[in-house]
Amino acid sequence: MKIGIPRALLYYRYGILWETFFRELGHETVISPRTNKDILTKGEQLSIDENCLSTKLFFGHVAALEGKCDYCFVPRIANLGDAGRFCSRFEALPDMCRNMFRESDLRILRINIDPEQHTSAKRAYLNLGMQLGASREKAQAAYEAGMAAQMDSFRKKTEINRTLLKKEGIKVLVASHPYNLYDEYIGAPIIKSIRNLDAVPICSDGIDPREARSRASEIAKHVPWVVSRELLGAIQTYRDKIDGIVLITAFPCGPDSMVNEMIIRRISHVPILNLLLDSQDGNAGIDTRLESFIDIIRFRKEVEQ
Ligand code: SF4
Repeated sequence: MKIGIPRALLYYRYGILWETFFRELGHETVISPRTNKDILTKGEQLSIDENCLSTKLFFGHVAALEGKCDYCFVPRIANLGDAGRFCSRFEALPDMCRNMFRESDLRILRINIDPEQHTSAKRAYLNLGMQLGASREKAQAAYEAGMAAQMDSFRKKTEINRTLLKKEGIKVLVASHPYNLYDEYIGAPIIKSIRNLDAVPICSDGIDPREARSRASEIAKHVPWVVSRELLGAIQTYRDKIDGIVLITAFPCGPDSMVNEMIIRRISHVPILNLLLDSQDGNAGIDTRLESFIDIIRFRKEVEQ
């Protein structure tokens, strides 16, 4: 069977787990292409205006899988228990997709992860594996292989950051949700521009997620969202090792509008550039702001020397 996976939202967190899980069960996976103009346009057409840019892109990626797979995998991941909640948009994704693509041949394959309602991730993946025809033992082995691959990828990202922090030059922490950091239309051009300005971009997801969550409360104690906690923990961990922070937000993100304000108020000794991205074309304005930001950091460093 061919299982389509949209290259958006939690794909950038759990994609390796999903691809390994389905492959171990004997299924082929088809990942939607990197974001391009067609995907963005389609996502905007399908979505209501109130959705954030990241969610609009998700719908565009689902549409890009039409006719290319037997099922499109759209998980509902509500929370990680005590580790916090995911954005409420993730809870609605399977229902929104079912409704949006009701006249299409696209079949939605869903999973429901909600430890607060006694549905752990492990139980959800075992049920999914058995729904796809595997024995309980095979589903469990596929889940364990997927988790091991996923943990390995978290470790590699942490290792990359350790290496980057040893480099000479200006270091900029690029802080955002992983699906914003690596998307071709949101964070990827910003990371590239920072490199072109001879600075070293350090991505905020290059840290063990558990360690990051445990440090979040040193900046803010009562943040409900998993990814926001990890972002705060990454800032707390790296704040004395970097020269500046670029915050990237996909308009109009509710959690980020609150958390970014907190970061700006509480992290006073590091320069912060707050970039809000909508679906506008081109990066000219952003490049100019990044250039000025790096110039300011360079100037500060020269004065301090
Ligand atoms: S956390 Fe923000 S960017 Fe992410 S899905 Fe929710 S509203 Fe969109």
